[in-house]
Amino acid sequence: TPPPNRMENNMTDASVFDQYPLDQWKEPSHRIMDRFSLAGRKGFVTGGAGGLGRNVAAAWAEAGADVAIVDLPRTKETLEPLAQELSERYGVKVVPLYCDVSDKAQVDALKTSLVDELGTVDVAFINAGVNVPGDDADEPYEVWRKTIDINLTGAYLTAQIAQHIMREHNHGGSLVFTSSLSAHNANFIAGGPSPVAAYGASKAGIYEYARYLAAALAPYGIRSNAISPGYVWSGIFEGRIVPEAHDMMTAPVPMRRFGTNEEIATAVLFLASDASSYVTGTNLQVDGGYSVY
Ligand code: NAD
Repeated sequence: TPPPNRMENNMTDASVFDQYPLDQWKEPSHRIMDRFSLAGRKGFVTGGAGGLGRNVAAAWAEAGADVAIVDLPRTKETLEPLAQELSERYGVKVVPLYCDVSDKAQVDALKTSLVDELGTVDVAFINAGVNVPGDDADEPYEVWRKTIDINLTGAYLTAQIAQHIMREHNHGGSLVFTSSLSAHNANFIAGGPSPVAAYGASKAGIYEYARYLAAALAPYGIRSNAISPGYVWSGIFEGRIVPEAHDMMTAPVPMRRFGTNEEIATAVLFLASDASSYVTGTNLQVDGGYSVY
């Protein structure tokens, strides 16, 4: 049974209003920046070897959390030294864990490893994702299937073990999902949509799943939010586009540039931490304004 929701249970009691301090800044020891701290928290990041994932892992480690960085076994040569570097730099526990997020048996095993390594999970960045070549109007079934399996089913599987661990350990937490600009529009480049058909559908599904969980898990003190990055210079475009393509891609972006991995990490730190304690079920566009058109 869910823990009692104070709003529903105490409405006739005048003490209900005690939970709304008007000026917390007046308390001598109060520091609003403490709300961004993750000191003592435990978290995991999927797609942890990638640009967004490893920068969020670094941000969470700097903020004081022990972190499991989760990715495919083929990333071992990246993940092992990354875990060691983060751990040494920030003085927290950082462990590499290997899992294909689309494989239920592997995600079930990940749940056991997370509890063994970290004790529990307070924050989870549900971020592993792929954009499979050939993802356009005529995409083959295999492209559609692979995209949905990894992006959407993978998000469901990994978010589910996260929220189950939180509930089994009787504490709240925060889930942050990586949706995308492509969940909201068709990525107009050079006169037409770019190939993100199944990708966009999977990311829109992630966004709505995050919203559903926000409603369902609020009684347990678990928040659930999504970010929708626009074009982020995460490493995936490196060496793959020429300067002219950069200018073409950023033409519809009001800020006329890509975002950086750190500009994603700050948004995810906000949503993971108590700085966003009244934010749930939302989507934060981190896209240089692309979505306003
Ligand atoms: P990236 O390729 O650097 O990182 C993605 C990571 O996910 C990789 O390390 C990869 O090994 C891992 N991964 C892939 N399939 C997996 C699986 N089945 N199981 C476990 N891990 C798997 O890319 P990135 O730019 O850091 O992207 C991270 C997330 O952000 C993705 O979900 C992506 O769709 C999303 N996104 C990126 C951008 C962008 O412009 N970079 C924009 C919007 C959304």
